[in-house]
Amino acid sequence: MYFIFAIMANENNTFKNIIAHCKEYGYIFPSSEIYDGLGAVYDYGQNGVELKNNIKQYWWKAMVQMHENIVGIDSAIFMHPTTWKASGHVDAFNDPLIDNKDSKKRYRADVLIEEYTEKIRGKINKEVDKAAKRFGDQFDKEQFLATNQRVLDNKKKIDAINERFKNAMEKNDLNEVRQIIIDCDIADPVSGSKNWTEVRQFNLMFSTEVGSTVDNANTIFLRPETAQGIFVNFLNVQKTGRMKIPFGIAQIGKAFRNEIIARQFIFRMREFEQMEMQFFVKPGEELKWYEYWKEHRIKWHKSLGIADNKYRFHDHIKLAHYANAACDIEFNFPMGFKELEGIHSRTDFDLKSHEEHSGKKLQYFDNETNSSYVPYVIETSIGLDRMFLAIVSNAYQEEKLDDGSERVVMKIPAPLAPTKAAILPLTKKDGLPEKAREIINQLKLDITVQYDEKDSIGKRYRRQDAIGTPYCITIDHQSLEDNTVTIRDRDTLEQKRVAINVLLEMLTSRVSMTRLLNLN
Ligand code: ATP
Repeated sequence: MYFIFAIMANENNTFKNIIAHCKEYGYIFPSSEIYDGLGAVYDYGQNGVELKNNIKQYWWKAMVQMHENIVGIDSAIFMHPTTWKASGHVDAFNDPLIDNKDSKKRYRADVLIEEYTEKIRGKINKEVDKAAKRFGDQFDKEQFLATNQRVLDNKKKIDAINERFKNAMEKNDLNEVRQIIIDCDIADPVSGSKNWTEVRQFNLMFSTEVGSTVDNANTIFLRPETAQGIFVNFLNVQKTGRMKIPFGIAQIGKAFRNEIIARQFIFRMREFEQMEMQFFVKPGEELKWYEYWKEHRIKWHKSLGIADNKYRFHDHIKLAHYANAACDIEFNFPMGFKELEGIHSRTDFDLKSHEEHSGKKLQYFDNETNSSYVPYVIETSIGLDRMFLAIVSNAYQEEKLDDGSERVVMKIPAPLAPTKAAILPLTKKDGLPEKAREIINQLKLDITVQYDEKDSIGKRYRRQDAIGTPYCITIDHQSLEDNTVTIRDRDTLEQKRVAINVLLEMLTSRVSMTRLLNLN
């Protein structure tokens, strides 16, 4: 029917187009735009909020509703300041920063190094592609990776850099981190300059004061993650819910980080939302559950129908102070593969540390063994805004149709689309708008619908394509005679005549989350 026309210009342009599109169609606006905005803070518009709510629901259903042993909470953003001492955020929630003296741009040293090793990995992939072409069906990728000298040399280079970086960070040796950047000959991506400052640590938490006078003011922090609200409520939930290990506590909520390098749209924000789940297990069983959650989470992502090759796992080399295993699920965003979700085996670090700082026991009594222990924890943590960006950037397509016309379409998975169906009377007269309103009244309790009578039907289709509405229902003169309408599919452009009385059932089954969510 149609083909995607030349991947327009380069990836940067595509990203710019996506950002502009999000603004034009009421998805995302810069915060306080009339005052020229605020760096790395964004507002979600009328369509954005619907998509965001649907993503939350899709996650909540998969994590809470479908698991007998997982419950949700909604803890406060403000917490007792000792929380952040216990969690390690006061002392260790830092980014190593480096400035370029010529461009005056500031970077995260770890990100510069990671991007450098990614470039080397790109070379390996190119070698593989070349060899695959040369050898055709005979090509054995595993063997090639294990024996090709250029691949082996590049792998060795990556391992050496990673090892050096890991050691430097473990010793907090910032001079060595800088030296890696110098030795790798890493240049400022913007200016090409290699004139670097020292590396410094910078704490990412925002602080503010509670209390009305300066005298009794008490510094508190805006939470940098939702996880700690779960840990401090571990016993409350376990006792009141009579939860038996293994069990999980889930939460969706705002988090705040004073990100220094504020770029890449909603990928890195100062105020964002997380969807986190902490799964409490018996010590010694954590790695089994870590594997379980890795698999379960990637299934959740793939259930949305996005291509498999858009995702990959990235195992952490430098483990956080609390973890004994950790990986990211990375997504191929317009700027390349980047972290979308983290899965961490956090040991008993958090609960133990809260025990020490609060003086309260945070233990589980095991009836079978008649003994108490501090549970181990597996965490799954995904940024809601990053998930939003993954969906939107994957959905955005510029297409040339068979008739030569062009369209911009957002192929958002139907169950997540802000509006499920647009109701369009062919003309504004002859009783067609009234018939359209009748249909809206039949549908609106169950699915989100939008009425539109302005402009030609072609223009209205384009508008709905641009918003990502999966179905357009057109009411014409025949509808008045035989109670049928035309239903148009956003993705296939197929149009079918259907009876009005089957519309509700047809649409609800096609846009239902349940259809996608069968993960087991
Ligand atoms: P990054 O390395 O990209 O800064 P992180 O490893 O610090 O991320 P976590 O602390 O593991 O991130 O947070 C869990 C999830 O929260 C991330 O996978 C990401 O999706 C999301 N997230 C973290 N920081 C931000 C941010 N500044 N803006 C938007 N989402 C974020």
